[in-house]
Amino acid sequence: MNDNSLRLIWVYPDLLSTYGDQGNALIVEHRARRRGLNVERYDVRSDQPVPTSGDIYLIGGGEDRPQRLAAERLRRDGGLNRAVANGATLFSVCAGYQILGHEFVNDLGNREQGLGLLDVISTRGEGQRCVGDVLADVDPQLGLPQLTGFENHQGVTHLGPGARPFATVRAGNGNGTGDGTEGAWNDSVFGTYMHGPVLARNPQIADLLIRLAMDSGALPPLDDHWYEALRAERIAATAQPA
Ligand code: GLN
Repeated sequence: MNDNSLRLIWVYPDLLSTYGDQGNALIVEHRARRRGLNVERYDVRSDQPVPTSGDIYLIGGGEDRPQRLAAERLRRDGGLNRAVANGATLFSVCAGYQILGHEFVNDLGNREQGLGLLDVISTRGEGQRCVGDVLADVDPQLGLPQLTGFENHQGVTHLGPGARPFATVRAGNGNGTGDGTEGAWNDSVFGTYMHGPVLARNPQIADLLIRLAMDSGALPPLDDHWYEALRAERIAATAQPA
């Protein structure tokens, strides 16, 4: 992050942008601009090198075959790993989350190597596909309100000791391991199964990413009443087991 400018990188929109995840880039861009930041946004296609000087990187979900192609290209390119080593903040959803782990099961049924940026491993769930609304209480260390999102995945993700659960589900499956965990994070790398797009449903996550990238405390508040109305609606509409 240089003075007032924020470099936002949306990784592989041609392969990983299902369920409107590209909306996550719009939300970060919008909220950073509203705080007076000069946002430079780059949408990096999978045939282009991933720039290493970004401040915030976003990566979305995808079907199984594009997920394998994206993992192959990101491994070969190495730019995303270099960016995180340089201190960048990275937020990933679903297929993107699985790719950030050590390995996942690809569309051919084989174990595919991930980027090793999160201490997680994903396997293929034996049961029903996890589809539906999610309500989750975020890790208290992150200080965010209850999250809402939408999940649609077959993969199941197991956390190692180097990753903390991003949240705990009140409704929905999250990581699918049956332990109630949802997503994972370490210092500056985040993964979640929540689409929505999740940053439109929970703009406080976008603010968290901006704060981490700027190395700053609280940001000036914005008028979030429409976002909060949506959160209240989704919480009311999503069954919460007692
Ligand atoms: N292909 C992955 C799975 O089913 C990811 C799906 C997604 O990104 N929504 O687990």
